[in-house]
Amino acid sequence: MPYKARFLSLLAGGVLLATTAACGSGAAQTAAAPGGAAGDKPTVVAAFYPLQWLTEQIAGQDVTVQTLTAPGVEPHDLELTPQQVAGVGGATMTVYIKGLQPAVDEAVEQNGADKGFDAAAAVQTLPAHAEEEPEGGEAAHEHEHEVSYDPHLWLDPSRFAGVATKLSERLAEADPAHAQDYKERAAKTVAALGALDQEFTKGLATCSTRSIVTAHEAFGYLANRYKLKQVGISIDPEAEPSPARIAEVAKVAKAEKVTTIFTEALVSTKVAEVLATEVGAKTAVLDPMESQPSGGDYLSAMRGNLTTLRTALGCTA
Ligand SMILES: [Zn+2]
Repeated sequence: MPYKARFLSLLAGGVLLATTAACGSGAAQTAAAPGGAAGDKPTVVAAFYPLQWLTEQIAGQDVTVQTLTAPGVEPHDLELTPQQVAGVGGATMTVYIKGLQPAVDEAVEQNGADKGFDAAAAVQTLPAHAEEEPEGGEAAHEHEHEVSYDPHLWLDPSRFAGVATKLSERLAEADPAHAQDYKERAAKTVAALGALDQEFTKGLATCSTRSIVTAHEAFGYLANRYKLKQVGISIDPEAEPSPARIAEVAKVAKAEKVTTIFTEALVSTKVAEVLATEVGAKTAVLDPMESQPSGGDYLSAMRGNLTTLRTALGCTA
């Protein structure tokens, strides 16, 4: 038995060495082998839902896609189990957004940064907190993203399409045998996201107000793309905003004739409800899609967001 164990461990070492060499020479297809208990398919780890959805669209049957953030879990402060960290190390690639989930950033850095696909590096990002800093808003500073840009880029379908193309190129490099399949599926995904983008552009063209008051500042890219003005009650989904910040947002909401304060499923609605009562508005759920929607997928949840926005902003046409 010891001989067999020793043989197996030598074999495993050999596979690792071969993989390292293959990666160095650019032919990374064998990189799937160490983590690939399930056949010879590459394994791609997606950090949270929108990235999982995008990866699945492009990967099709050719990749095993795993997710680090379980449905219903708020992703910002995700902690990883040792098993998940090992999974990142063994995967062909990890698709993430640097700056959104520090634990994922760390796992990627420590387990092969060359196997990380940072979606934020694939597109042009917007600066964090594009809106003016709230005066005396202590809460705004409690949540420091580790990067200077806003990480919520998946909420702009046109930018997300750019990620799809870059991701398909990286998948093709990692698994050249299926390069054409990745390219074709990416083209389909880009077309679907393009159609969604058109719907948003048309649906939000003519509205009686363009200000959106949101529970947390997740909608900067959506606001930027469709010429809306986001007023985030809080930057950190888990931080209580200061009374000064709430008063300030109430003032803006009244001035901009806001009819609806937006909440989200994974965040307490208490503050939004207080604010809505104060300014005589309703509340409605706008999904930042940081977790898997309870029904449907990225596309249908985004269409749900469009319907919610059109009602709240009084959009015609
Ligand atoms: Zn967020």
